[in-house]
Amino acid sequence: MAGRQNNDLALAQVLEGYDDTYLHCRGIQHRWHVLSDMHVTEKLNNGELVERHLQCENCDTVRKDRFLLKLDRYKIYRMKVLGAVYKYPDHYLLHEMALSASPREILRHEQLRRLISRSYPQGQDATA
Ligand SMILES: [Zn+2]
Repeated sequence: MAGRQNNDLALAQVLEGYDDTYLHCRGIQHRWHVLSDMHVTEKLNNGELVERHLQCENCDTVRKDRFLLKLDRYKIYRMKVLGAVYKYPDHYLLHEMALSASPREILRHEQLRRLISRSYPQGQDATA
C-alpha cells in the first residue's frame, strides 16, 4: 500500500513540471491531421498492409494506423484494423504513469490544479 502511495506521490510531483501541451493532449485528446493518407506499404501472404500516418497539431506525436487489406470469400474488399503505432516526442512519456494504479485520476487533478493556480495567483486564497 505504501509503495502505491509513493508511486502516486512521485507521479503528482513529476506532473507539476510537465509540459502544458502534453498535459492537454493527455487530459483531453490529440488533434490529428493527416500526414500521409492510406497507402499500401507491404504485400503479405494474406493480403496487403495499409498504413495511414497522422500527426498531432499540438504535441507532434505521430500515429501510424495499420490495416490489413484483403479480399474475402465473397470477393468483397475489406480492411481489418491491425492497430496503431505511436511515436511520442521527447519527454512526453513518463515512467511514473506506468507505476501508478490510476494515473489518469492524478493527471486530471493536475489539470485542475493549474487552472486554480492561474485564477488565484500566489498569496490569494481560493476559498476567501
Ligand atoms: Zn497531442
